[in-house]
Amino acid sequence: MNGAAFFLAVNFIIAASFAAVFAVVSTRSRSRTAALWFAAGFGVASLSAICELLVAYTDFTKFWAIGAFASVLGGMILLRVGVGDLYGSKVSPVWALCFLVASILLDVVIYELPRSTAIHAFSYQTPFALVILTSAAVVFRSSRRLPIDRALGGLLAATGLHFFAKAAFAVIAGSGATARDYINTNYALISQSSTAVLVVAVGLTMLSVLVLEIMADERSKSEKDALSGLANRRGFENGVNVAISAASGRPHTVVICDLDHFKRVNDTYGHHAGDLVIQAFADLLQASAARNAVIGRIGGEEFALFLPNTTVDMAVLLAQALRSGTLGISIAALPESLTVTASFGVAELAEGGTLADAMRDADMALYEAKRSGRNRVRQSRPSGFAGPTPIRSVK
Ligand code: GH3
Ligand code: MG
Ligand code: MG
Repeated sequence: MNGAAFFLAVNFIIAASFAAVFAVVSTRSRSRTAALWFAAGFGVASLSAICELLVAYTDFTKFWAIGAFASVLGGMILLRVGVGDLYGSKVSPVWALCFLVASILLDVVIYELPRSTAIHAFSYQTPFALVILTSAAVVFRSSRRLPIDRALGGLLAATGLHFFAKAAFAVIAGSGATARDYINTNYALISQSSTAVLVVAVGLTMLSVLVLEIMADERSKSEKDALSGLANRRGFENGVNVAISAASGRPHTVVICDLDHFKRVNDTYGHHAGDLVIQAFADLLQASAARNAVIGRIGGEEFALFLPNTTVDMAVLLAQALRSGTLGISIAALPESLTVTASFGVAELAEGGTLADAMRDADMALYEAKRSGRNRVRQSRPSGFAGPTPIRSVK
């Protein structure tokens, strides 16, 4: 086996492996169809290596030569469809098919032309370059602008341009007198090896785009509470850290809310009714708090709000509105006799204090609200005092 045939075999294994990996990734990815298009693209393109070997070692030279061209181009068009799916620029199937057929016809027409001429070399390589360069343009124009997207766009652009470089090199170095001679040329060796490198780079980058997307999805799932749709405790704490770094200055306030006698709701109306109440209360919090508020369900029937750039007085007003809003909760599926109330503790994040300090202060204020009869808002004065945090009554 000579060098070029070796690279053909390598390219086949690489492309077929990518096809398999993308098929597996599609089972986990939210961009399932894009992953499947990538799998199909690499699968179809891998056939070209087989065609090239058949060109060299069988008698149906022209048929397999055109088959090699068609499978590479077909694979690239499928990748372009996948890129379009992922980056929001759908490809018309009619146009894709017309482009493929027209390019194959062009390849048939130029087949008898002397190889290593500019007209042959550029006519052969231009369809590949066009498909890959339009894929690069789609990535660059898309609203997805993570570094990995930029890397993919750059690699696709380089890959698209490398087809023109290959055409120029074919003219200079010669790509064999006949299709059958191709495999024994230096051009074939360099062409196949450069393609192998670029195929691996593009394939790995596409894979990274999808894997990073899966990781981001998993992370957001692990930070979300399924019942209420709010952040869970971990998501709340991470959200607060992000909100603090995004906020301009201080003060920040924490409100902790706990549904009153919730056990009774479950005991009287059933666990499902309790779940509906949790959902309705979460909806109330979401509808009432400012857009930059971080809201979490931090325990069974316990919730927390982090209000950036909000004074304690403003937070108390919000808590009072939430308290009366809770009284107004009515759930169509549940009896009207069900009245929901909640208690609220409000505390400011003290200068130099941590979220944990503010949560502890708000929790103590909440405890006081419970102790003094529930369905109340209580405010903690800024901490920093030794001993129990002073509680100010606000209802
Ligand atoms: P308090 O006014 O002192 O807060 O009394 P409470 O009954 O609300 O508090 P307690 O801590 O005694 O009971 C909380 C109940 O919340 C017990 C638990 O079964 C219920 N709970 C916790 N998570 C869920 C949930 O996801 N769904 C439902 N339906 N109930 C839950
Ligand atoms: Mg409770
Ligand atoms: Mg509780």
